[in-house]
Amino acid sequence: KLYNQIQDLRGNIRVYCRVRPFLPGKVSSSSSVAGIEDRTITLMVPSKYGKDAKKSFTFNSVFGPLATQEEVFTDMQPLVRSVLDGFNVCIFAYGQTGSGKTFTMSGPKILTEEGLGVNYRALNDLFNIQEQRKDTICYEIAVQMMEVYNEQNRAVCSTAMNDRSSRSHSCLTVHVQGRDLTSGTVLRGCMHLVDLAGSERVDKSEVVGDRLKEAAHINKSLAALGDVIAALAQKKSTHVPYRNSKLTQLLQDSLGGQAKTLMFIHIAPEPDAVSESISTLKFAERVA
Ligand code: ADP
Ligand code: MG
Repeated sequence: KLYNQIQDLRGNIRVYCRVRPFLPGKVSSSSSVAGIEDRTITLMVPSKYGKDAKKSFTFNSVFGPLATQEEVFTDMQPLVRSVLDGFNVCIFAYGQTGSGKTFTMSGPKILTEEGLGVNYRALNDLFNIQEQRKDTICYEIAVQMMEVYNEQNRAVCSTAMNDRSSRSHSCLTVHVQGRDLTSGTVLRGCMHLVDLAGSERVDKSEVVGDRLKEAAHINKSLAALGDVIAALAQKKSTHVPYRNSKLTQLLQDSLGGQAKTLMFIHIAPEPDAVSESISTLKFAERVA
């Protein structure tokens, strides 16, 4: 029995895009984002050969720099709640370092009530519904924090994650089990909220040693994630290459099948970020 009666008709894979505002004290007179209209974002692509070109990308939702944390979460709420109905859900924050991934998922460094990110709001929402439905369903909700660094795994406490955060994937997993008190039927769902490592291409001529190894691991795992979602996005059955990275192996049960995936890409508006922004948008276009 489905409790979210309003059917989400968007299918199993959706792509959202968010453009962060200029940072305080670093407001620029020009932006690489020429416009946001409804679900379309238009980028100003500087041309080496004269006239600048505009390129537009359309996604399931596009949030501009003025979008609030609440607006963003409200859009995702049906997806989050579907975990209570036994669906598996993966939400990925993707983008170059500094584009706003952690802001969306967790919030700003100094947290305020309205700054609370998706992770907090999602848990809060699930706990509220647990309470609302307690006379009909007994939900057990368990939460786990994990970091994937250089393709290894491990459980961590959230404070240990700060300094390496842009070079590791951090994942908040919520396991839900719901037992219908009348019928005894048990539903299980699981939601992964993933703040991915920064997607920026690292100049191989400038990094050595551990930094180079990290960069190679990040490239590999983000590319593998893109390959998996792109394969899932094709309606016809194709081979889904889960085994190419630790991250996709870990999330295999929650990617594909009945599972719902949200790829949430993040764009920095500064003109000097434009080539990374284009590569982020192209990544998203491929999985949309
Ligand atoms: P990332 O996790 O992608 O490296 P952050 O989330 O740390 O990026 O964001 C970089 C900076 O921009 C932080 O100071 C953050 O608070 C700020 N920021 C990001 N997104 C927003 C937003 N939507 N509104 C206001 N400030 C933002
Ligand atoms: Mg971050």
